Amino acid sequence: MEAKLFANQIIKWYDYHKRDLPWRHTKDPYKIWLSEIILQQTRVAQGLPYYEKFVMTYPTVFDLAKASETEVLRLWQGLGYYSRARNLHACAKMVVTAYNGSFPDSYDELLKLKGIGTYTAAAIASFAFDKANAVVDGNVYRVLSRVFGIKDDIASSQGPRVFRKKANELISQDRPADYNQGIMEFGAMQCSPATPACGLCPVSLECYAFNHNEQLKLPVKTKKVKVRERHFNYIVFRVGESYYVKERGPKDVWQGLYDFYLIETPKEEPGDVLLERLSEAVKRAAVIEDDSQVYKHILTHQRIFAKFYLVELENESSIAEMDGLRACTVDELKELPKPILIQKYLEREIF
Ligand code: SF4
Repeated sequence: MEAKLFANQIIKWYDYHKRDLPWRHTKDPYKIWLSEIILQQTRVAQGLPYYEKFVMTYPTVFDLAKASETEVLRLWQGLGYYSRARNLHACAKMVVTAYNGSFPDSYDELLKLKGIGTYTAAAIASFAFDKANAVVDGNVYRVLSRVFGIKDDIASSQGPRVFRKKANELISQDRPADYNQGIMEFGAMQCSPATPACGLCPVSLECYAFNHNEQLKLPVKTKKVKVRERHFNYIVFRVGESYYVKERGPKDVWQGLYDFYLIETPKEEPGDVLLERLSEAVKRAAVIEDDSQVYKHILTHQRIFAKFYLVELENESSIAEMDGLRACTVDELKELPKPILIQKYLEREIF
């Protein structure tokens, strides 16, 4: 299919079918960047309230840069992939310090910012500055592979390069922003993964997949994601009205968020076996008051099963030596940024 014809069809389709979303009414690179980071690995319906909260709480990049990381993580809570929130905050600081608060307008310069990869750089360059840099996301892979019969594996090292080259050949020079928005929207709504609406599709006559009945074979993606199963046993120490929490460190999920004292085991273990892993002083003082149901949390590469054991102590002397534990009232606990799994437990059992 000829490039100009394809781009025109996509833009025409988009003009008619586009959803009315707040970040489509602005050319402000700050708001566009916010929406793009929030929407990575997130559905629009889930991301929309977060976008509104962020814009309201931090109307400019200066406001976001001034906030503490804890405040940013707290506002992000529930959206998952928390490294995005940390990068968001670091990027805001970079824009303020290195670019006087104005996002750079070129793809190459945007790529230098924290948390901005090829997709986000192209999105900001085109949506905010009308540059002809093509976005390539999961929707674009699907549409291009199906329409043009591209069979390169999108999980391989050269696959993304092939698609990026094709996408940049196809992008409209006159309306790059609408073309980019359009092809992603087209992939999400018309050329969907399992049920593409080929019968009503404006490019079906020239679509490779439609003509060869290969819609469900494309795009090609061979690499399987290995999913690791993890069992988190949380010991929730309580002394009077105080609960003891820990800030999570680097090199694992949920860095910078708060949880409880954690014993990770390869499989589910009964409470008394877990207590055996605590120090003699804690073992002597600890009595499990309550154990929770199992809470499950699915991430891309891991499945986490968490169980909570509420342990009442008379005083904190037995846990005083334990690294990083910090006492919190219920009200303080409510304000801390937490993984959603911890939030669910607290709402069900403590708050
Ligand atoms: S004809 Fe079907 S597979 Fe091809 S682009 Fe349209 S919706 Fe997608």
